[in-house]
Amino acid sequence: MDALVIGAGVNGLTTAICLAEDGWPVRVVAKDLPHDTTSVVAGALWGPSFQEPMAMTMAWTDQSLLDFTALAEDPRSGVRMARALTVSTMPPGEPPPQARSIPELRACAPDEVPAGFAGGFHALMPLADMPRYLDHLTARLAEAGVRVEQGTVASLDDAAREAPLVVNCTGLGARELGDDSVRPVFGQHVVVTNPGLDLLFMELSTADEWTSYFPHGDRVVCGGVRVPDRWDRTPDSAITDRILARVREREPRLGDAEVIEIVTGLRPDRPAVRVAKERRGTAWCVHNYGHGGNGVSLSWGCAREVAALATELRDEPARRL
Ligand SMILES: Cc1cc2nc3c(=O)[nH]c(=O)nc-3n(C[C@H](O)[C@H](O)[C@H](O)COP(=O)(O)OP(=O)(O)OC[C@H]3O[C@@H](n4cnc5c(N)ncnc54)[C@H](O)[C@@H]3O)c2cc1C
Repeated sequence: MDALVIGAGVNGLTTAICLAEDGWPVRVVAKDLPHDTTSVVAGALWGPSFQEPMAMTMAWTDQSLLDFTALAEDPRSGVRMARALTVSTMPPGEPPPQARSIPELRACAPDEVPAGFAGGFHALMPLADMPRYLDHLTARLAEAGVRVEQGTVASLDDAAREAPLVVNCTGLGARELGDDSVRPVFGQHVVVTNPGLDLLFMELSTADEWTSYFPHGDRVVCGGVRVPDRWDRTPDSAITDRILARVREREPRLGDAEVIEIVTGLRPDRPAVRVAKERRGTAWCVHNYGHGGNGVSLSWGCAREVAALATELRDEPARRL
């Protein structure tokens, strides 16, 4: 009756926690340990998702908001509720339904909108310092008696021979396990010393480059960029220069900030986030991948959905594991 979770990014760890806390004996196997995953590179701002399946992703980010709000009460979690200024070059309109749950959301007064933008919103949003947050999740898992084992799963059928419940949290790795609708979207952050910033800044844009900076204690994570279908994770110095120019123009105090590191990652993009069960021989596989640029925001909602599916499978006699 044990569960084998494949993957130790934010989705693998969160899902393993939900299963373990529901009483499942859990194993976690991952090719890359948490600090080598895409997840560690994320900014990481909780926000609404506009991915399919739309009704589900709205429910999942709402659930995650509840979990992150609770986590922010523990300063050791790496999560805090951060004052946020989101701006856009598009004229402000009614916020979309996805934005209805954002805490303390209010439109900027005209004199609060920074130069170069047409409108903006203030809000209070969960922000995760990913290296610290992944450590927190790993420690919570260890408290439940689960260690992350390093290893590569060659196929889901192989995994299904090892455990009656397999949970596929492999992110972009799902492609090698048979789903070629998963594709990379390259991203890069420039991490600099913090000159004393607390407010996070995010430009909402459909362009491939935008301005964002997320303060985390003594570091600020600056972005942003997306390059679809780029597999090469080598940092691009021209992108670094453009990120620094944009954030320094927007926030002059970043002018003297020193570059600590450049980090890159491949967002696991898919036409729709996949949380679904599938029969594999005598076992069940529950998928949880394809979260694109919102894997942190969706993580608790998706993990709780997986745990609910697992409970159904365990409790339904005709489908006994
Ligand atoms: C620059 C950047 C900024 C981002 N900012 C945000 C943000 O602000 N907010 C937000 O919500 N999201 C953000 N994201 C998106 C987020 O990082 C991803 O959606 C999320 O990390 C995906 O997590 P995951 O656990 O599904 O996958 P991953 O973190 O990629 O983990 C996958 C795990 O599966 C393992 N694995 C894969 N294949 C196999 C195999 N065959 N056998 C064993 N193990 C395997 C890997 O080794 C790894 O451990 C950002 C991403 C980038 C790149």
